[in-house]
Amino acid sequence: LILADGITKRFGANQVLTRVSLDVSERDVVCVVGPSGSGKTTLLRCLALLEEPSEGRVVMQGVPISTPAPNKQVKAAGRAVRSDIGMVFQHFNLWPHMSVLQNLIEAPIRVKKMPRDEAVAIAEALLKKVDLSDKRDAYPARLSGGQQQRVAIARALAMSPKVLLFDEATSALDPELRREVLAVMRQLAREGMTMLVVTHEMGFARHVGTRTVFMDRGEIVEAAPGAAFFDAPQTERAKRFLQQFE
Ligand code: ATP
Repeated sequence: LILADGITKRFGANQVLTRVSLDVSERDVVCVVGPSGSGKTTLLRCLALLEEPSEGRVVMQGVPISTPAPNKQVKAAGRAVRSDIGMVFQHFNLWPHMSVLQNLIEAPIRVKKMPRDEAVAIAEALLKKVDLSDKRDAYPARLSGGQQQRVAIARALAMSPKVLLFDEATSALDPELRREVLAVMRQLAREGMTMLVVTHEMGFARHVGTRTVFMDRGEIVEAAPGAAFFDAPQTERAKRFLQQFE
């Protein structure tokens, strides 16, 4: 569905990603784990078209959507699929001056030109799904972190994305609030949502992920299906990384 094809990313002299290739198929739940600073967020931002690769490209359903020197065609292809790629951020990034409902209907109305009634109906169904129907008219500041993140997930879903990217979606939350967000993510996985999840939640990666990708110093060091990465890590680097969670 979406492919990172040999992506290298440099910020000035700092090479953050080195020839990273990762293919996410429909219904995959790929969990990206690794030490702090290993490039996980940067990889996700490249796939979300928030960063341009220095080398390599992002390909969606066979069509290049991001290249180092974007030409008109690639730019247009990127714009065309932008709303197919949903993103959930560590710090929720809700619009603070808008109610929960407004947060959910804004992009469908503006970007997809959806009639307001339809956008509201979809938003209400999504709020029910994340168990926040009663917060429809509240403003983000009045919600807990866990509730804000569930709204952010609902907002991403409101665009009917083909793939949902999660950037440490639970890292800013207390354990109790984490659980409610992870429950929503687990439900989405069960429903067959294609997901790429950068996470420090090893339990989620082990039990929900279809594949775990271990990154270190800008490279994919290991990739293994489901729990296999945790049961039998192949490299010293991965073993050392996993020790801290024992
Ligand atoms: P963490 O788990 O701590 O979030 P990460 O694996 O997600 O780490 P990244 O956030 O991708 O790692 O960062 C990788 C490296 O890239 C870091 O050294 C960081 O300082 C650098 N970096 C990230 N974004 C930028 C930027 N916009 N400009 C310069 N350097 C950046």
